[in-house]
Order: sequence, then structure tokens, then C-alpha cells
Amino acid sequence: MSDYLGYFEQNQGELLAFLTRMVEHESPTHDKAAVDRYGLFLSAAFGALGAEVETIPQERYGDHYRLTFDPPGGASEPEQLTVLCHLDTVCAIGELARRPIRVEGERMYGPGIYDMKGGTALVLFALRALREAGLSPRRRVVVLLTGEEEIGSPTSRALIEEEARKSAVVLCVEPPVAPGGNLKTARKGVGRFTMTIAGRASHAGAAHAEGINAITELAHQTLALAALTDYDLGTTVNVGLVRGGTRANVVPAEAHAEIDLRVATVAEGERVVPAILALAPVVPGATVRVTGGLNRPPMERTPAIGELFERARTLGATFGYEVSEAATGGGSDGQFAAALGIPTLDGLGINGDGAHADHEHILTDTLAPRGALIAALLHTL
Ligand SMILES: [Zn+2]
Repeated sequence: MSDYLGYFEQNQGELLAFLTRMVEHESPTHDKAAVDRYGLFLSAAFGALGAEVETIPQERYGDHYRLTFDPPGGASEPEQLTVLCHLDTVCAIGELARRPIRVEGERMYGPGIYDMKGGTALVLFALRALREAGLSPRRRVVVLLTGEEEIGSPTSRALIEEEARKSAVVLCVEPPVAPGGNLKTARKGVGRFTMTIAGRASHAGAAHAEGINAITELAHQTLALAALTDYDLGTTVNVGLVRGGTRANVVPAEAHAEIDLRVATVAEGERVVPAILALAPVVPGATVRVTGGLNRPPMERTPAIGELFERARTLGATFGYEVSEAATGGGSDGQFAAALGIPTLDGLGINGDGAHADHEHILTDTLAPRGALIAALLHTL
């Protein structure tokens, strides 16, 4: 066992300086040029460590990168280890000026620092730690940097699944569960739906009975959707956005809703998704059209994922770091790998809090053991 902990302790200042440069490259999903600039900068840093850098160009969103580390003399195992990182953030250009990088005690603040530039920096320095110690991972290591995770990975999903199929293990360095830093061994599946309701417009005073009120229909549908929530099963249905109508004295002819679904198991997805798609109108004459589905499958804690977590826990214990686990409702690319039956460990990023929020920060006091854990995983899995 190498002294990974010592490596991260000694190189923490350099790591935080590099992480600062990563955060300074603002990379909102919807700004392809900005994500591409950050991707070029970051992939070059992996390239300098000996990675074979392959760009997968994209039209609309940021380019993806496949970074391959082949152990000298070849890997001793046929299957690879894949690490999932995303380049994009939910922070618009200008967020950095509004809330600049700052350090307060153990907290380091900055847009995207927790989700997930911090975790990505750990991967880079873990690979550097192995290289400087003259150690080789057992497997070929493939790091994916993808450009549009925050909108559900529409263009990178196939790439993630392709690499996952070649893998014995997939690691995802998304933020851990705040504030304790638990790794994520189960994630809920995420579904999105759009509901469009059509009625018939009419004068609210002169001809109210001739109208078909789309908002009344939307109210019925909202209650039907809410009734699908079952906390015991881990299922939530959230009507999160509604609009409809034109003015108070007109019977509204149209209404819309956007709906978020979370399910803990594949079986719940199979029960609830068809139920949402089959919702029928209540108001005579109204029509209801629902489109959508699960965009990320649930990651269930399989025995293989349990075993992988146990490996991580045992590795952490060798340098006195207690590794814990939890389930979460949030979505990540790790779910695409887990859905293919590949043992996946998620939430390996730096401790902190405030993903997608103004108080987004990492906790620098646990940076070294978390980096050491990633190095140990890359070396031994
Ligand atoms: Zn993320």
C-alpha cells in the first residue's frame, strides 16, 4: 500500500491552485464554446500525465473526451475501469464574478467547485500520485469528460454505456451526500414529463357553459399525479411548473404542466411511468396529452455494488479513513452504468455542500483522504 494520503497532504496546495483554475473556466451546459475551452484545458492536463486523449466532437453541447491510461506493459485484467466526470455546470457565465472563489476556514467556495470540478481534480491528482510512485493501475483506466450531464446527458449517454460495457467497475466522482461525505450506492431513477391539456375558450360571463376549462382539468390531473407519490416505496411525483389561460374573463382553452418523477426501483418505474402516460381527462370534452419517461434509470444497491462499497471501506480503513454510504434521490451518469449491471460506486467527490446553490463549497479538510481513496481504488480494483 502506497502512501496516497501523504501524497495528497503534501500536494494539497498545488491541487487547490489547479482546482481554482478549473473553476475559473466557467462552463455552463448551454454555452458550448465555454465548455469546449474548459474541456481543452482539462484534457491537456490528463494528456500531460500520459493519457491518450480522444475528442468526441459535438454539435450543440460541449465536446466529450475519452482519456485512456494503459499501464506500461499492458493491463493485467481484460476489463477496464471507467471514471465518469462531467465538464458542465449549472452556473451561467458571470456567476464567478458574482460569487468569486473564496476560502473561509475549511470551506472553499466557487461555482461548480462541488459539482463536480473538485471530484475531477481528485481523479487527476490520484493518477498523478500513482505515476509519481511508479505504480500502475491493474486495469486500463478510461476517464470520460462529458459536456452535458446537467441536462440529462442526451449526447453522452451512448458513450458512457459503451465504455461501461467494457468495464469491470465504474467510478463516478459526483459530490457525495452532504455534509458527511457518504458514497452513493443507490440512486433514484429520474423521469420528466410534459402534460398538455386542451379545452375550449369561451366568454366567462356570456357563454361560460360553452367553454371547456383546461385549468380545471389541470387541477384534476395535478391531484391524480400527486396521489401517485408513495414515500414508503421511495416514489415521488412532483408537478413543478404549471401555466394556462389568457385572462380572468375567458374560459381557458389550454394548460400545461411539467412533472418530475423519482423512483427507487425498476419495478416502481414500470408501475408509475405507464400510469402517468395513461392519465385520462375528467372534464367532459377536454383532452390530455402526456409525453416523457425515465431519463435516468434507478441505481439499485445490488450485491455487486455492496461488494464494491465494501472494497472501498476496507481500503479507506488502511489509512484510517471511515467510508460510509447512503442512498440519494439525485440523478447522475453512474445510473447508466449501473443499469447495465456494472458495479458502480458514486459520490466519490470532495465533501462539501450547496450543489446548484449560492453556498456551493467544498471542505478542504477531508480532501486528502478522499483523494487517497480514489488513488487506492484506481490502483487496486
Ligand atoms: Zn454533477
